[in-house]
Amino acid sequence: MNKLKKLVTQAMANYYLHQLRKDQWRNPQQLKEIQFERLKAVIKHAYDYVPYYHRLFKSININPSDIRNFEDVRKIPLLSKIDVQRNFTDMVARGVDISRLSAGATSGSTGIPLKVLYDPTFTRLGYQDAVNSYVLFERGVKPGDNFVTVWGRASKSIRWSKKYVKLWRGIGETVVPLFPPAKLVKILRLIKPDVLNTFPSVLITLADYDVSEINPRIIFTGGEVVTEHCREVCRKAFGLEPFEGYGCVEFGNLAFECEEHCGLHMITNIAFIEFVDEADEWVSAGEQGEIVVTGFLNDVMPFIRYRLGDLGIPTDEKCACGRSWPLIKNIQGRIDDFLVLPSGKKISHFYVLRAIFHRVLRENIFAISHYQVIQDRKDGIILKIVKGKEFSPEILDMLRKSLQYEFDKLGEPLEVNIEIVDEIPIERTGKRRIFISKVI
Ligand SMILES: [Zn+2]
Repeated sequence: MNKLKKLVTQAMANYYLHQLRKDQWRNPQQLKEIQFERLKAVIKHAYDYVPYYHRLFKSININPSDIRNFEDVRKIPLLSKIDVQRNFTDMVARGVDISRLSAGATSGSTGIPLKVLYDPTFTRLGYQDAVNSYVLFERGVKPGDNFVTVWGRASKSIRWSKKYVKLWRGIGETVVPLFPPAKLVKILRLIKPDVLNTFPSVLITLADYDVSEINPRIIFTGGEVVTEHCREVCRKAFGLEPFEGYGCVEFGNLAFECEEHCGLHMITNIAFIEFVDEADEWVSAGEQGEIVVTGFLNDVMPFIRYRLGDLGIPTDEKCACGRSWPLIKNIQGRIDDFLVLPSGKKISHFYVLRAIFHRVLRENIFAISHYQVIQDRKDGIILKIVKGKEFSPEILDMLRKSLQYEFDKLGEPLEVNIEIVDEIPIERTGKRRIFISKVI
């Protein structure tokens, strides 16, 4: 990027950052109005310039002027990853020179890797920079902090000692690849992060080691679901409550946990997030739904009502911090992360994770390190565990009995087999899967 472009982008980011910090305290109704104006603008832009949407809207006889309130948005069909793949060229706005665009690729953790094109212009870059900086500053990051990211997709060529990425006003980011645990601990002891940003499962791994010399002031997590197990491990090992973040390659940062830790604030200036049930209807506050997103920042390849494939619970609760961005109570993993009971009824895999945590791990937090639940048949699960530093054989019996008790309570007994393993495999992206179903 040339110097002038960098300067203009930074100036715009500064302006947008100021706006976001101001807007977070506006009254919720004003925020809704801003959001609706932006939502309408994206829909109109898509209709006018994006062949796929023009065709789609015509085929269902919708004109952008028919969208008069948030409810009307439901007239527009949902967009899946497969829709994007099949209509890739038609998803790009007319008159855009594709060769000038930047591309991002999703990890394919859903089995469908996806390429997304971005406009490398001032506006988008500036706003994205502003959002990225906003979510850091709001949670206490200061210029000059030693900001360390441990990430699975960091390539081997990135040397932790050399890599220094300017994020904003002098915040440097050191990217550390996902080295074997002992080496990772050694490196973190050496570089002493003020801010540690990584997958929840990496924090659990680190807690198996002596982390007394690694004293970050702030811990950020992303990429995987933050379980209660992970939170408790963080409190015990680092004396900190981790800050969960929610974002993706397609839209960037979407929601963040503030210092009150009572859910994730959705930044409504940059996206419209819906939560839908199996019939694609909106769920009520407090109910689990699939997360569907319309982003406002990508004019060249706008995604409207895009199925991200994650599950979350919206809530009407207000946060004690006073910020007006609405809350997601929590993110509950992937859409196919559910347990099928012998009767065929499906329940969230969180039911199993909660049983493991509340009945056994809470009082024995370092008894096991990682674990993975695999449903290999309708009437049974396998619980794979990696021994923790305070492991004792009685834990196995406690785990089996607790899970069986929970299944009996549902009136659907499932057999529980426990296997002790040396490690839970890490996927190509560096993430670990906590639940795998082989029956859906
Ligand atoms: Zn808050």
